[in-house]
Amino acid sequence: MKTEELAYKPQSASCTISDEDRLLCDAYCERYKKFIDKNRTEREAVRGAVKLAEEKGFVSYKPGMALKAGDKIYKSVRGKALLLAVIGKKSMAEGANIAAAHIDSPRLDLKQNPLYEDSELAFFKTHYYGGIRKYQWVTIPLELHGTVALADGRTIDVVIGADKDDPVFVITDLLPHLASEQNKLLLPDAIKGEDLNIFVGSLPDKDAESDKVKLAVLSILNKKYGIKEEDFLSSELEAVPSMPVRDAGLDRSFIAGYGHDDRVCAYAELEAILECSDPEKTAVCILADKEEIGSEGVSGMQSAAFECFIEDICESQSVALRRCFENSFCISADVCNGFDPIHPEVSDKMNNAKMNYGVGVAKFTGHRGKSSSNDASAEVVAKLRRMFAEHNVVWQMGELGKVDQGGGGTVAMYMSKRNIDTIDAGVPVLSMHAPYEMVAKLDCYMTYKAMKALYAEK
Ligand code: MN
Ligand code: MN
Repeated sequence: MKTEELAYKPQSASCTISDEDRLLCDAYCERYKKFIDKNRTEREAVRGAVKLAEEKGFVSYKPGMALKAGDKIYKSVRGKALLLAVIGKKSMAEGANIAAAHIDSPRLDLKQNPLYEDSELAFFKTHYYGGIRKYQWVTIPLELHGTVALADGRTIDVVIGADKDDPVFVITDLLPHLASEQNKLLLPDAIKGEDLNIFVGSLPDKDAESDKVKLAVLSILNKKYGIKEEDFLSSELEAVPSMPVRDAGLDRSFIAGYGHDDRVCAYAELEAILECSDPEKTAVCILADKEEIGSEGVSGMQSAAFECFIEDICESQSVALRRCFENSFCISADVCNGFDPIHPEVSDKMNNAKMNYGVGVAKFTGHRGKSSSNDASAEVVAKLRRMFAEHNVVWQMGELGKVDQGGGGTVAMYMSKRNIDTIDAGVPVLSMHAPYEMVAKLDCYMTYKAMKALYAEK
């Protein structure tokens, strides 16, 4: 053996991909672009995924339903998260192959009392959701998506701004001419959370006695949706970027869009399970909510909604849930940070995922000495190496920035807490959590292949 052969030299997928795979990659990315362009919130992603799943023969699981190998089922977790499964030939006692991604993304949620008028302009107050850099969210077009739940049990879905003839919403910022004081502030302080107020109108209701603009705005909403101001109390309205998903770069190698984190991995899982038929082990696809705020809440990955679904499948085979979990394998499919040569100082170049180098595996995430991280075992990483090699998946190891630079987490630790072997793997992203993130098409496709490889595991 030559000594050169002892060295590990990761290669860009652009050099190693076959012509056939390149065509499949382009077609896959077009489908993905359509999915994220249309589904900009967790509720919409659930609805979009259910529609695709039903077209492929998945049926809504009802408790007590008889299940046999090859059956395709899904369960919506209160319309905000989705669990899908294809029942395997082997018993659940031998474990399931699980992929867990999330479909919530950073955004601006309307407060429960959002509407106010100041100086004859009306605004919605917001409370941001997830880790955002606030200065990135001013002076960009926003859309409003969400649901108003009425006291009588009805719900009203709201989408304003998605149609090209709709108005959009914008948050203002200072003009440079008058920004000398603001310019002296540090980036996180320059735009305050309480200043992320969205302009919604300026024309008064001439007959009203006070709050004329606010009342005129309410009147527009009442005409269109039949809602009153009190109905905001029980609403979830999300302001999300209104920029269309587009190819980026002269070579069209990247996709720019909102919500790649983590719908880019969610979609990879989804397509993989939709194409999965007669697996050896039961294939499970999780599209979770609430990851961006710590996986809390009933639709988050810490919720027992997941156990409930898996236990139902186990019970239909008289298998104990704990047996299934200890023999299961989970890929926590979440994005990682791609190396950005404009900001190299935050990364250890040798250990950071690179764009076009395939699905990025993170043995650990966390912060300050791997705190709050899953830190997968060497054996689990070795299993991925074997699996990805068998299925020609281009992959790389990635680490979230330099030691002590910062950090972050995924749903991985909540899966491993259940006694499931778990590892993070997903698409490298540039400008993560920004209103307009970028991913490489080759990495999207390799992540999809990685999910297919997982479901093919015997
Ligand atoms: Mn994520
Ligand atoms: Mn995130």
